[in-house]
Amino acid sequence: MFETTIAGSLPKPAWLAEPNMLWPPWKLAGDELAAAKRDATLLAIKQQEDAGIDIVCDGEQSRQHFVHGFLENVEGIDFGRRVEMGIRNNRYKAMVPTVTGPLRLRGRVHETEARLARAHTARRLKFTLPGPMTIIDTIADTHYGDRVALAMAFAELLNQEARALAGDGVDVIQFDEPAFNVYMDAVKQWGVAALERAAEGLACKTAVHICYGYGIKANIDWKGTLGSEWRQYEETFPVLANSRIDQVSLECRNSHVPMALMRLLAGKDVLVGVIDVATDRVETPEQVADTIAEALSFVPPERLFPCTNCGMAPMRREVAEAKLAALGAGAALARRRFAA
Ligand code: ZN
Repeated sequence: MFETTIAGSLPKPAWLAEPNMLWPPWKLAGDELAAAKRDATLLAIKQQEDAGIDIVCDGEQSRQHFVHGFLENVEGIDFGRRVEMGIRNNRYKAMVPTVTGPLRLRGRVHETEARLARAHTARRLKFTLPGPMTIIDTIADTHYGDRVALAMAFAELLNQEARALAGDGVDVIQFDEPAFNVYMDAVKQWGVAALERAAEGLACKTAVHICYGYGIKANIDWKGTLGSEWRQYEETFPVLANSRIDQVSLECRNSHVPMALMRLLAGKDVLVGVIDVATDRVETPEQVADTIAEALSFVPPERLFPCTNCGMAPMRREVAEAKLAALGAGAALARRRFAA
């Protein structure tokens, strides 16, 4: 009961990448960078294990950014041709690369870190990939000329890598779809279909993480415009409940999402965000247990997985570590509280 996991990313050590940044430049190159990524992955696993996290991740230590880590191994993208694009419906601007030809995987994307993580933990292992809608919201295109066709092309590549990851021994594959809170009509029209295409035929568990973003300023400002109750999930949850995806990850701690909306996810595992990643204030185990208790009114205990609200990549490392510990201790406390 209350098995813990994290949304995916952890901060990178300062010897690997520039700290406290969302798109941190690497500090090393070539073989040294490859070795440093491996070392950081082992540390990330150890930190999660020590904190009592049950379903661990590689902490995304081998990728610069959760979307572009995947794109770097895709043929048909010109990284030299970067254009400024307003992403997440113009919430913020980013310099994004351009699709200029047919998309194809150059080979495996995350084989090294997945196999390394698998070899060094006996716990269940989750691996994250960007979702198709979020990818196409973070890239320009001069080849496909149609956003849905582009999303489906990416979904096929994601599926290819996801199947291989399952073959590496990964237990859960999670697709990150922050764009699902932005383009609600598109989610219904083709977003979930593209997600299911990416997850097709996977023998392992599948998850989707939808969220209101990291604790960066553009997101905090945007959240200020959403009113006192965030009801976007009211539109997306029923569609996800009808999908073939097994688990849904969402933010609850300090969020304005009415928790009752989780009722709309009946039949799915819910990764309940009990750790706020938008503040350095570290939750107490009691607060974590209280959020779990609140969520229990809407999610049955065997389907409730305490989690972080979102990735912790841009956080200070010591803060993230303290929050991991609070997550593990809080879930343990909740288990004691609710043990029959
Ligand atoms: Zn997130």
